[in-house]
Amino acid sequence: MKIRCPSCRRELKNVPADFPHRPFCSNRCKMADLANWLDENYRITRPIGFDDDFEPPLTH
Ligand SMILES: [Zn+2]
Repeated sequence: MKIRCPSCRRELKNVPADFPHRPFCSNRCKMADLANWLDENYRITRPIGFDDDFEPPLTH
């Protein structure tokens, strides 16, 4: 089967049906996409005004 990686847009041909990273081309793209999704989800679900009187610890 053929897949198109949603992360890097690379097209893969002859991908086995049990390819573990579908629909991504690799574990790296899979994790990158998951990280993006979690980041967006975090921002969307964070309560409004959360930052108003919140000071994050300066660890970086
Ligand atoms: Zn990819």
